[in-house]
Amino acid sequence: MSNSELEKIRKEISACTKCALCKSAIQAVPGSGNPNADIVFIGEAPGFYEDQQGVPFVGRSGKLLDFLLGQIRLSRDDVWIGNIIKHRPPDNRDPSPEEISTCKAFLTRQLEAINPKIIITLGRFSMNYFLPNATISMSHGKPHQLGKYTLYPLYHPAAGLRNPSMKIQLIEDFLKIPDIIEKTNLI
Ligand code: SF4
Repeated sequence: MSNSELEKIRKEISACTKCALCKSAIQAVPGSGNPNADIVFIGEAPGFYEDQQGVPFVGRSGKLLDFLLGQIRLSRDDVWIGNIIKHRPPDNRDPSPEEISTCKAFLTRQLEAINPKIIITLGRFSMNYFLPNATISMSHGKPHQLGKYTLYPLYHPAAGLRNPSMKIQLIEDFLKIPDIIEKTNLI
């Protein structure tokens, strides 16, 4: 399962110096998983462990994401996982609007190369990338049709780890993914 365009973008991201985040980060985290996935998960930016390993969602948030994927009988090999921002912001601060604006073309191109059916956003930054005026408290757990994509916003797993009621909501929303898959005619 190769995807030469996605690989080309990965190399460009690894060499990118378009913003200052590449100076403080150890390495880029371009994304990982099935390069031809029908379902992609998009988070905000790499954190400490992601920066160390060059792989998205490998810290505590990633363990929760793996657990939730298992609950709906999916694994990382079935989906593709990436972030809007490819280098870690120092001290895990929020990415600035300028950094998002500078980096976002990579994600747009990655999505074109993968051509998924369902985009699941994790947290408000990635939701607002696609739905600029939406609020996560109102939009989580509700699928939206966005051109050819079904967009499904979820709370970020890190928010779930900080806030037990958000974790319950995240689990509840996550368990609706099989229904969305069915309605999107993927099974
Ligand atoms: S965060 Fe994005 S725009 Fe900035 S250097 Fe990394 S890949 Fe380039």
